[in-house]
Amino acid sequence: MGIYFIVVSIFYSIMLNIFYFSKKHINSAETRLFSYILVANFFGLILESLCVLACGKFIGNPILPAIFVKFYLTYLELFLLLFTLYIYTICYKTSKTKKPIYYRILEKISYGLFMICWITMLVLPVDVSINYATGMAVDFVYICSACCILVWITSMIKNFNKINKGKFIPIISFIVLGTIISYIQKVYPSITLITSMETFIIFLMYFTIENPDVKMISELNLAREQAEKANRAKTEFLSNMSHEIRTPLNAIVGFSNSLSEENLPNSAKDDIKYIMNASENLLELVNGILDISKIEADKIEIVNTEYSLENILDDLVALTKSRLGEKPIEFKTSFAPDLPKNLYGDHSRIKQICINLLTNAVKYTNEGYIEFKVSSVKKGKVCRLIFSVEDSGIGIKKENIDKLFNKFERLDLEKNTSIEGSGLGLAITKKLVELMKGNIVVHSTYGKGSKFTVALDQVIVEKPTIKYEVEENSDKTVYFKNKRVLVVDDNKLNLKVAEKLLEPFKMKVETANSGDECITKIKNNEHYDLILLDDMMPHKSGVETFKELKKIDKFDIPVVALTANAISGMKEHYLEKGFNDYLSKPIEKKELIRVLKKFLK
Ligand code: ADP
Repeated sequence: MGIYFIVVSIFYSIMLNIFYFSKKHINSAETRLFSYILVANFFGLILESLCVLACGKFIGNPILPAIFVKFYLTYLELFLLLFTLYIYTICYKTSKTKKPIYYRILEKISYGLFMICWITMLVLPVDVSINYATGMAVDFVYICSACCILVWITSMIKNFNKINKGKFIPIISFIVLGTIISYIQKVYPSITLITSMETFIIFLMYFTIENPDVKMISELNLAREQAEKANRAKTEFLSNMSHEIRTPLNAIVGFSNSLSEENLPNSAKDDIKYIMNASENLLELVNGILDISKIEADKIEIVNTEYSLENILDDLVALTKSRLGEKPIEFKTSFAPDLPKNLYGDHSRIKQICINLLTNAVKYTNEGYIEFKVSSVKKGKVCRLIFSVEDSGIGIKKENIDKLFNKFERLDLEKNTSIEGSGLGLAITKKLVELMKGNIVVHSTYGKGSKFTVALDQVIVEKPTIKYEVEENSDKTVYFKNKRVLVVDDNKLNLKVAEKLLEPFKMKVETANSGDECITKIKNNEHYDLILLDDMMPHKSGVETFKELKKIDKFDIPVVALTANAISGMKEHYLEKGFNDYLSKPIEKKELIRVLKKFLK
């Protein structure tokens, strides 16, 4: 009667093998073990049918049935091993690349025990004189099965929470059915059910193994790749656009700057102020877009250098005061006396984070106070800087706090319509804080005010290698008569702006339209005291031009890089390339004076 079960099971096993192997599946430890079990079971069924056909039929020559039985018992032990490994896999979640240490130990122990049990089984006698196999070898396999069942139950109880509950169905079925069928077969050895039962369990397992539709995965991957490509194209477009906008903006800011110093009627001066204000807002927006697109493209790097915290805080205070204008706001500062003087980190990013918070406080506070507090907690060489900006402004509604850091999200628009903003500042701030592995938290009461706190780790520098200059008052007009400056830029308008900006300093300004023209001038022994060299030029970039200049014999003119690509880290990038300094476009008057004083005095 057992043979009928086996024949039906062989049919099922073939179907299962065809179904499983005709479908693409992911290559995980679980699916690999399942495929071994599937194939092993098919051969097990064939061996079992051979045993049933051979036992008792070769009376004169029992060797052949004994060989079939030993092969079949080997299959049973192999099945126990594979199923044990399968249970370990789902308990310890192994992936192809990295197997946890306990899995590897258990795997090794299982292989060892399998070898011992297999050899023992081969040595033990088997009796095939009647219609079925009996003897010590068969009993030994029963004992092995009982031990394995104990191991499975223990592993499952131990890892109950880790196992996907669906996987319990085939395992528990196997344990329950296996125990019942083993008992039946022990009592009535002619009923051969074990391998057929295993086929049934494999059939149940087929529905529980983690085998997501591979075709769907590859389609999803393709869609993701396309979306990423589109996102990259958008990012590139945005950053090109911002770059293109900065160039004409440079002209607007530059010319309005020089116009503001002319002797003009008051109304014209007011108009110029508005132009400058509007350009500054536009520049901030463009910078924001450039920053967020760089962050999203993972192109922002944290550039760590030594810096003086005092200088940064002085700049922040001066900037905030200038932004307060005529608003009736008291600007309070409180800097802990034990703040380290010199630190190592990305100071321009820290400055950017604080500027965003302070600017928001100024924008969203109409009266009262703004308090800027800085303290630190030292732990060995690392210092956790804590910046907080508190205001008595309009505050933020509770339900809006979560949206605060979304890009392009501006809140409470009915109140804020008159306030300039893009909704990018806090999104950038949060991303920068995260990039620097810090934290940002907000406390706000609607109608009363807000407090933003940022905590960042920086390294303390005991002996600074850089001497920080104390900035001189830049309002004092300085003259550099008899000095010659060469400005190199492919854009004529930019050259005009540079000439206009340099005009008040009474130096001799010459221009070159390309890197090649600059090189020719130097090779012709023209002498200059300073070269301002734009980087983004067609044919030969500023960096390439600079490389060629350095090859010229006795070339020792200071070269300052000029670029509209004003993302942070650019200064370090150009200094690394060997440039003497860096100016970003639109050129700030204060920065220009700093550079001129540095190289022309
Ligand atoms: P925006 O350019 O609009 O200022 P931000 O990303 O800096 O963009 O801020 C997002 C929104 O969060 C703002 O539009 C404003 O509604 C709110 N917000 C930010 N800072 C404050 C603050 N100090 N007080 C009240 N509301 C604020």
